[in-house]
Amino acid sequence: MSKRFRVINEAFECAHCGHLNPKAPRTCRNHCRKCLWSLHVDKENPGDRVSECGAKMRPVKVQGDIDNIRILHRCTKCDKEIWNKKAEDDDMEVVLKLSGKR
Ligand SMILES: [Zn+2]
Ligand SMILES: [Zn+2]
Repeated sequence: MSKRFRVINEAFECAHCGHLNPKAPRTCRNHCRKCLWSLHVDKENPGDRVSECGAKMRPVKVQGDIDNIRILHRCTKCDKEIWNKKAEDDDMEVVLKLSGKR
C-alpha cells in the first residue's frame, strides 16, 4: 500500500521550525505546537489526508472563544485555506499574537 499515507495522530518534526511534536494528548495534531505551521495534506476536510500538495501552510489568523479556538492555515504553494482546531498544548503566545490581541 501507499507509504504516503500518514497516520493522523503521531509524533512529527515540524517542517518549518524543526520542533519535534509529540503525539497530541487527546486530539489529532495537524500542526506544530510551537510555530503553528502545518502541512497541506488535507484536501477538503481536516483529517482527510488526500491532498497531493504537501507544501507548508502558514497560520494566518485565529478565531473563536478561548475554549474553542480555530486557526486558519493558508498553503504557501496553492493558497488553499483550511480551518483547524487549536490543540490544547499549542503555544498560547503564538496564538495570541495571531489573534492580534497583543
Ligand atoms: Zn514548528
Ligand atoms: Zn497546497
